[in-house]
Amino acid sequence: MTIEQRTFIPLTDIVGIEFECGHCQSRHLIPLKRFDRILYECPNCHEQFISITPIERTLTRSDESILRAFIKALDDMQLLKVKIRLELSEGTK
Ligand SMILES: [Zn+2]
Repeated sequence: MTIEQRTFIPLTDIVGIEFECGHCQSRHLIPLKRFDRILYECPNCHEQFISITPIERTLTRSDESILRAFIKALDDMQLLKVKIRLELSEGTK
């Protein structure tokens, strides 16, 4: 017998966004309901988190516009009648 275990996160369980600084590894959690400002830089070491200019890989969208679209989509999806869950890879359990 084989038992398969998979882990899912319902979108309604997502309550915050955490930023981890690539320089000092400090973490900053922002509750989704209070996400009214973009955290452009690390509050600890001032390393840039979010670029307001288009990024090289697309040349059309900035980090800021991608993050704002993600937050808006996440917020809008909370109201859908269908329940959407995201599956985690096995390495993240
Ligand atoms: Zn930092």
